[in-house]
Amino acid sequence: MKIYNTISKNEEEFKPLKNNHVGFYTCGPTVYFYAHIGNMRNYIISDLLERVLLKNKYDVKHVMNLTDVGHNIGDGDLGEDKIRDEAKKEHKTPEQIIEFYSSAFFEDTDKLNILKPDVISRASENIKQIIEFIKKLDEKGYLYKTKTGVYFDTSKFKEYGKLSGSNFKKLNEQQIGGARVERPEGIKNITDFAVWRFSKPDEKDMVWDTPFGKGFPGWHIECSAIANEYLGQQVDIHYGGHDHIQVHHTNEIAQSEALFEKQFVKYWVHVEFLTVDGKKMSKSTRNIYTINDLEKRGFNPLSFRFMTISVHYRKMMNFTFEGLKHSDEALKSIYAFISKISVPNEKTGKISKEFSKTIEDYKKLFFELVSDEVNIPNAIIKMHEMINYSKKDLNKEETSLVLNTLIEFDEILGLDFKRYLSNKLSKAALELIKERELSRKEKDFESSDKLREKLLKEFSIKIEDTKEGSIWYKV
Ligand code: AMP
Ligand code: ZN
Repeated sequence: MKIYNTISKNEEEFKPLKNNHVGFYTCGPTVYFYAHIGNMRNYIISDLLERVLLKNKYDVKHVMNLTDVGHNIGDGDLGEDKIRDEAKKEHKTPEQIIEFYSSAFFEDTDKLNILKPDVISRASENIKQIIEFIKKLDEKGYLYKTKTGVYFDTSKFKEYGKLSGSNFKKLNEQQIGGARVERPEGIKNITDFAVWRFSKPDEKDMVWDTPFGKGFPGWHIECSAIANEYLGQQVDIHYGGHDHIQVHHTNEIAQSEALFEKQFVKYWVHVEFLTVDGKKMSKSTRNIYTINDLEKRGFNPLSFRFMTISVHYRKMMNFTFEGLKHSDEALKSIYAFISKISVPNEKTGKISKEFSKTIEDYKKLFFELVSDEVNIPNAIIKMHEMINYSKKDLNKEETSLVLNTLIEFDEILGLDFKRYLSNKLSKAALELIKERELSRKEKDFESSDKLREKLLKEFSIKIEDTKEGSIWYKV
């Protein structure tokens, strides 16, 4: 399997650090508001990567943090904590905000068929580990105190900035870093960042007493500490959004490599942004849509998943409702195909050699593509070609070969193909479906509507008519 590594700027052959085991870390959401579909692009892609690893028979341990403290507005060290700020706005406690928006997040990931990581850990559940991490960094002389917190001296980490192909001097000259132009008082270098921030007297929730002062962790230290707690000193794959390369991930490397003196991450994988009218979707730009917004407009969240996986993750993805409609129709045409050909087929016969070879070739190509830099868009093109090739008079054996292949593709795509299989439906229901198809052909829409109602009422089967024919599924 091949993977593009941000740090080497190359496609590399994937080889885990230890045997078959893959330690996979994903930077999770800051649970201070509804996640928008730009955030969701991020998690759909990490899901694809996990599914591709699993398909390649790796033993994957996927760890994701939930940021419930320490992530400031503006991503630097000056702004207010995002969760504390939202709690004030909504007149709630931080805990209420965290609970509410983390459940909303997982409701969305469920709707998008995103597999749950093996470990999901909150920053606040790892304070002990974070404090230990900070203590050890301090013993090694990397930290200094200011009035507002404990800072990491980035000038002391020799390879600072290597992830973006830069270095300490250049980044400071360009004023890139958590502190940017406005610096927190007392910091030595623009790129220095807080590992611990002292709380203000009125900040009572989510603060901890420590030997270095009362307060809460910085945003970057939680990922270093959680990755270390669950995956050890080295991680095979670290994944996140493109916006994290220059600051968040750069700082994670500084902390972890300063402490353990070995390569923190073997492969860095970053997803490009989802944009609207060419602008990054983000809460501050107010150009956001949530999964709920798409549902309100009548879209199945999986149509958004399909739209997302049809664009390579290293390319910008511009979101439009027209584009979503197009993906929705394309997905429904696949569902219609599955509904139709999975109606038990009475035609017996053997699979022709040519047919079996063609399907096998498509299957081989599909899995080669998904394993080559997660090239799902091209794999999807091959799947469409296979479907078109199979739109002919198939016998029972040929039909099940096509269906089994599609179901196998869906282990990667996660589009719920199984839901549209007709061969699990009762004979009586299938008879009604066939009858309805016939009335539609004869343009007897009155009967066809009645049959649709009957199927829903008596069999809980929903029917939708699409450009490519009808689809039916259990509700
Ligand atoms: P946050 O909850 O703000 O920490 O963001 C969660 C993840 O979503 C991060 O890994 C971000 O890099 C990513 N992200 C934020 N906005 C976008 C976007 N417009 N497109 C793709 N990923 C994004
Ligand atoms: Zn992180």
